[in-house]
Amino acid sequence: MARILIIEDNLVNMKLISTVLGIAQHAVLQAPLAGEGIEIARRELPDLVLMDIEMPGMDGLEATAMLKADPATAHIPVVALTAYAMKGDEARFRAAGCDAYLAVPFDYVELLALVARTLAADGGSGAGTIA
Ligand code: MN
Repeated sequence: MARILIIEDNLVNMKLISTVLGIAQHAVLQAPLAGEGIEIARRELPDLVLMDIEMPGMDGLEATAMLKADPATAHIPVVALTAYAMKGDEARFRAAGCDAYLAVPFDYVELLALVARTLAADGGSGAGTIA
């Protein structure tokens, strides 16, 4: 089990992702906006952040760059969620500091597999605890 922060302005996606992670026994933290998400990340230091890219105000890439620039949160893996995974986007996500990305809509098996892989690759407290 891991503590996972979801930063996502689309409430339908938020609910769906939270449900899938909850069934897999992960503890979920939620933020509907980037600024609030960054505050929660700093306070709660989750094991993983799922970051929507398209959000009003500060977008997910800017928010990821802020988390990665802060020594307190730089180690937390960030998975970008995007409806627009097109050629060149992966390079953009990685440049901002994202560790992986997932195209929405996604298969729930794909989501859980990516979460497990990303937690394992992090080598932090969550590593090796995911089946
Ligand atoms: Mn969005």
